[in-house]
Formats: sequence, structure tokens, C-alpha cells
Amino acid sequence: MIEKLKALESLARQLQPSSAQRNEWHQQVAHYASEFLDNLEDKKAFKQATSDNPDAARDFFFSLEERANPLVGLLSDIEEHIDQHGINPASAGHMGYIPGGGVYPAALGDYLAAVTNRYAGVFFASPGAVHLENDLLSWMCQLMGFPEDSVGNLTSGGSIANLTAIVTAREAQQLRAKDFERAVVYLTEQTHHSIQKAIRISGLSECQIRYVETDSKNGMLPTALDKTIRQDKQKGLIPFFINATLGTTNTGAIDPIDDIAKIASEKALWLHVDAAYGGFFKLVEGMSSAFSGIEKADSITLDPHKTLFLPFGTGAVLIKNKKALMEAHHYQADYMQDTISETGEPGQKFDRSISPADISPELTKHFRGMRLWLPLKLFGLAPFRAALEEKLILTQYLYQKLASKDGFEVGPEPELSVTIFRYVPAKIDPNQFNQELIKRIQLDGDIFLSSTLIDQVFWIRVAIVNFRTHLSHVKKMVKIIEREVKAIITQ
Ligand SMILES: *Cc1c(COP(=O)(O)O)cnc(C)c1O
Repeated sequence: MIEKLKALESLARQLQPSSAQRNEWHQQVAHYASEFLDNLEDKKAFKQATSDNPDAARDFFFSLEERANPLVGLLSDIEEHIDQHGINPASAGHMGYIPGGGVYPAALGDYLAAVTNRYAGVFFASPGAVHLENDLLSWMCQLMGFPEDSVGNLTSGGSIANLTAIVTAREAQQLRAKDFERAVVYLTEQTHHSIQKAIRISGLSECQIRYVETDSKNGMLPTALDKTIRQDKQKGLIPFFINATLGTTNTGAIDPIDDIAKIASEKALWLHVDAAYGGFFKLVEGMSSAFSGIEKADSITLDPHKTLFLPFGTGAVLIKNKKALMEAHHYQADYMQDTISETGEPGQKFDRSISPADISPELTKHFRGMRLWLPLKLFGLAPFRAALEEKLILTQYLYQKLASKDGFEVGPEPELSVTIFRYVPAKIDPNQFNQELIKRIQLDGDIFLSSTLIDQVFWIRVAIVNFRTHLSHVKKMVKIIEREVKAIITQ
């Protein structure tokens, strides 16, 4: 038995590399990361599979063997088969969907969280890690004007944050399976699809969904909301949840939160504000009127991997009703008996020791707080505020530029940093023309834009969110758009 153990130990100890080995790996990874970042400006924002790069990424098989592999070879596999294909989310030219960029020190935070393997799920296991995450959430609650006894959870993204909010609303409103067919949710056509997905995942797919009418800027019409709720109540239905969006994904539109909040409160509905994209613009001075009423919401979704520029994998949900959040998510298990935390009373200050595992579906989780805290502390808040304000102004600049150009049509004046445009040619069908235009822009790949359909009209979307995107990149984008328009017209 001892001989066998010795043999196994000698092999297993390979999982504990020496400090010389660690340093060597470290240098190789740091070198790779530096090359990647230093050459970012020259790299494509998007590389589509074409005949001269016939799907190199798709054919490659990341196979596993018994033997060890040198790191250098693995890094070149990453470079060749991952980092050169598809969208480059770190690129300043990525202005499709909602980019974020990925601030560098977040990677160092992830590194530290992984090396120490700190467990941030329950207070008992790491009071420091749980405090850090809860302090970040408390800061977000303060930013949104939530009362001191609110709570929050760092999620993997906005979709899970929205799901957590809906599940909590379902519990808080005491909906039971027999009620689901009569339960009503209010959204607009512009609501992010993760809300519908969350309704389905939370077991509510039989509920009624009302798409409330919107105004010319794609914001929800409170009068229409009010009327629909009243009609539904008369029919004996159970209106229970309103989703308002602060910064829609399509056009960055802001629903009139304050008016919606009044209706929600009068009629006792749960108001959720999906501010996954727009939320952190509250850091910009002068933006508070757009957020008016957000403090009256019952729950808010934020996405630090969008407007705090973090790498993908960090969202947040803020919830006022701690009791409902706990009722929806808490657990008890014999093997966890050492970890059960005290539950604070309502009215108590933000509970810094509440365990994430008691208020989310997760038990064991990534210590996400570290990747968020480290950049915010290292840089301070000022450059984040500046980058966000810069994005708002760049979007105004782009909007005015495109609006002044012959043949271009722009959407509603941007409220945040997403804007839509299309080229309306004299003879060709505009939808067909703009489909061709987006295809050409994407094939070129120096910048990446995406598109959307609003009332059957095909628009090209520009989302200026990446912290690396500055004036020179926006100017370059305008040139590329004009060049491709010309190329289609003259072909
Ligand atoms: C991005 C987004 C989501 C989804 O968030 P993920 O982080 O992608 O899961 C939800 N709502 C809005 C408004 C968004 O912009």
C-alpha cells in the first residue's frame, strides 16, 4: 500500500509545480497577454470564416491525452484557433451588440481569486470575500438610491440577474401554480429577450404577457400601461410584474421609470428595472434625471461586464425585499450545518455578512468580487466616469455626423450610447441595401457592427461601450461605412 501511495504521490505532485516552473509559465502567459494587447489596434474586430481561412477554428479538436504538454505550444493553439476567429471583444472596433472590453486588472483579480481559490459562497468560509462582494453591492445600491437594508448578488451576467428578480417577485407576490394562468407580466417589444427566457425558466410560461405600447423613442407609454393593468384587473387576472428597461439593447431607449413606478406602487405590482446596459451611466454627472424613479423599483439588474468594462461573467441584481429574496433561494442541508447565517431583520443596514449562497441559486461559485474590486480600487472611479461620459458624447458626435450625410437616416436621438442608422438609396429596397451593407462591414472586419429589425425596418446598430473606443475609432468607422455604401452603389 505504501509503495502504491508513493508512486501515486510522485505523479500527483506534478499538480504542484515548483516556484521556478510557476515563474516560467507566468512569464510565458504574461508575454502572450502583452503581445495581444500591444497589437490590438492592428487586429481585426471581426474575422469571419471565408474560403482562405476555411474554418480553422471549427476543425481544431482540443483533445486531451495522458501526457503533459508544453505551455508554449498550448499558447500558440489559443492564438491560432481561438483568438483569431469571430468577434474580438477586446477590440476598440467592436461596436456590435453591447461590448465591454475587459479592463486588464480584472484579469489580475481573477488570477488572485483562482490562486487562493477563496470561497465566497458563505460568510463562514470567507468573511473577507463575502464582505468585499457585499460592499460592492452596497455601493451599487447606494448608486441607485436603494435604501440601506437592500441586498444584492453578483451573478454571471444580466440574464441570471433578471431570472433572480423574477423568481423573487413570484415568491413576494405569493403566486402559486394555480395562479400562473391568470398572472400578467408587462413589458415592451424592446424588452431584452432574457426576460422572456427567465419567465419560462421560472415556471411561469403559462402567464399572460402584455407588450405595452411605446412612444416614438421606443420608451414604454405609462398611460397605456395603466390602462392595460386596469383592464386586466377587471377581467379577474393577477397583474404582478412590470419590466422597465433603462437602456434598451436595440436603441438605448429609457422607459419613463418614475411614471411607471407610480403605477406599480398604486396597483401593488413588482417593478423590475433592467439596467443591464444603462445602469452604470448613473456615474456620469448630469445623468440623474434619466434615472429618476429608479430608487422606487423593487429590483434592478446591472451588468458590470458591460458599462463597468469588466471581462464577461459579471452581472448584479439588487433587491429591496431581502425576505422574499431569501425565501426564494435559501436552503438547509445537514452537511452545511456549520454555515447557516443569521438572517437580518428588515430595516437593518445593508447586511454585509449575508451569504451569497442564501440568496442565489449558486452554492459554490467564482469569487467574482475580486475582478470587480481590484480595477475599481486600482484606477479609482474617476476614469470610469470619464470613459462613460466620453462614450455618451462620442455617440452624439456619431449621430450628428451620420444625420448630416446625404442618404443616411438615423433613428431617435440617442439617450445613451447606442444609436441606429440606415442608408436609404434612391432605387434599391432599403432593407436589402442595409443587409448588404452590414455584410460588407462585417466581412471587412476592421470594425464590427450588428443590426436589428424595428417594425420590419432593417437598421444597423452602433453600440459605443468598449472603454478602448475613442474619437479616432469613431471617425474610422464613419469612413468605413461611407466607403462600403459607395462600393454597393457603384458595383
Ligand atoms: C445584455 C442585456 C441583458 C442580458 O445580460 P447578459 O449579461 O448578456 O446575460 C439583459 N438586459 C439588457 C437590457 C441587456 O442589455
